[in-house]
Amino acid sequence: MTSITEPQRTIPVRAQYDVLVVGGGPAGLTSALAAAEDGLKVGLIESRSFLGGNMTIGLPILGFLGQKGNQIIKGLPQKFIDRLKVRKGASEHRPCPLHMGITLVEPEAVKTVALEMLTEAGVDVTFYTACAGVVMDGDTIKGIITESKSGREAVLAKIVIDCTGDGDVAFRSGVPCEKGNEKGGMQPPTLMFCLAGVDTEKLRMSIANQTRTYLTDFIPAEYFGQNNQFIVVGLRELIAKARAEKGLKIPNERTIIITGLREGEAWLNMTRVAGVDGTDARSLSMGEIEARHQIDDIYTYLKDYVPGFEKSYFTKTAPFLGIRETRRIVGQYVMTQEDVLGCRKFDDAIAVASYPIDIHRPGDEGCTLIWCGDCYDIPYRSLVPTKVDNLLVAGRCISTTHEAMGAIRVMATCMAMGEAAGRAAKMCVRDNVSPAKVNVCRLRDELVAKGAYLRS
Ligand SMILES: Cc1cc2nc3c(=O)[nH]c(=O)nc-3n(C[C@H](O)[C@H](O)[C@H](O)COP(=O)(O)OP(=O)(O)OC[C@H]3O[C@@H](n4cnc5c(N)ncnc54)[C@H](O)[C@@H]3O)c2cc1C
Repeated sequence: MTSITEPQRTIPVRAQYDVLVVGGGPAGLTSALAAAEDGLKVGLIESRSFLGGNMTIGLPILGFLGQKGNQIIKGLPQKFIDRLKVRKGASEHRPCPLHMGITLVEPEAVKTVALEMLTEAGVDVTFYTACAGVVMDGDTIKGIITESKSGREAVLAKIVIDCTGDGDVAFRSGVPCEKGNEKGGMQPPTLMFCLAGVDTEKLRMSIANQTRTYLTDFIPAEYFGQNNQFIVVGLRELIAKARAEKGLKIPNERTIIITGLREGEAWLNMTRVAGVDGTDARSLSMGEIEARHQIDDIYTYLKDYVPGFEKSYFTKTAPFLGIRETRRIVGQYVMTQEDVLGCRKFDDAIAVASYPIDIHRPGDEGCTLIWCGDCYDIPYRSLVPTKVDNLLVAGRCISTTHEAMGAIRVMATCMAMGEAAGRAAKMCVRDNVSPAKVNVCRLRDELVAKGAYLRS
């Protein structure tokens, strides 16, 4: 690749905060809410025009319920759900044999409620602005450089929380990062899409009553007889039939259908593009183009083979390609598969999780699912990067292996990490210490006092 040298230039400092949160997805929302709770000056920079991140692409929130059926994420994430419910924008946390618990949310309500809550908390939200660089003083981050319609500007802060999902801030500030499995393979992305006019009653009763024809993975047929909000995963034989009979190009071996909150609505988690790197704009563009191309055949398959979809019609795609995996920081502790499967407890636990290891394998069409039987902790040290001071990370890019990331990546868990990072950032500012020096006992006490769930 040829290159040019950009001339050095002076840029304006647009704002200075106590705490700056970069990225307004599940982790960013709760980070900002927690940091702003006692009146600190908190800013949030978001590259899109709305808050919510992947909570706006038609996915259910997973992770509120543990493998033993108890609620393991409370605190600010639950407060967010309670506010959504007032607008009929969220369901109950419904038990699910495969996913432990599913909480359906309405994407537009997510955007509205998230903005309402942040605005009420006094968080200064800036949309349409991406983090393009960092301001460093040695190994200490002093702020970020943003790129937007306004051009290039700097935003400074005492503590920065990277909630970009991709570890954009951490990576640019020199934190060591890893990507994917041992071969660098990352879980494939999916462009979610939505159909209306779906007879979800017919769908669930067909699965419940015609068990030989409509076989689902892990979830027993009776479940569908008893639940009218659900996720279907499976119907593998139908896909094989559609491929053989009609030559349809279905990129997934499993049918994944999520009922929407609105009657007759279903979200489809079925496009799949191998080899996309979500930190590379050209690769992302290729993924977006290919995923959109896949939708017609998937829709034909659903209409012609899956009961309840006969009169369905296409309404929309999600606002962006859903990226499952990119960078993970190397933090003070790297969570592993053994920690997850061993239900490991940590003295510095700041959240409890229970979602299984769920990896859409980079190398083939399949999925690896492994349950631990109970819960495991997320240690604070996995949110604290090595090498760079005054930076915290929350969300799917915390310090884990590829396998552990497959478990901790779900949105309730990311929201719980966000709350912990926000509270830790507040303590850093108040006590004038760096994230690595936070008194974790006090942080844990504050989390519990404010309603979060931690194991004793
Ligand atoms: C197809 C798919 C299906 C999934 N299924 C489920 C599911 O059913 N349930 C579940 O709970 N989880 C699911 N997940 C996982 C979950 O959605 C993510 O792991 C989770 O959303 C990560 O949260 P986050 O806050 O770390 O990042 P994100 O949700 O990605 O939010 C990051 C935010 O940061 C912003 N941002 C990024 N870069 C910058 C930048 N440089 N400058 C400024 N802003 C930036 C983004 O616009 C975004 O708003 C799925 C993921 C995918 C892709």
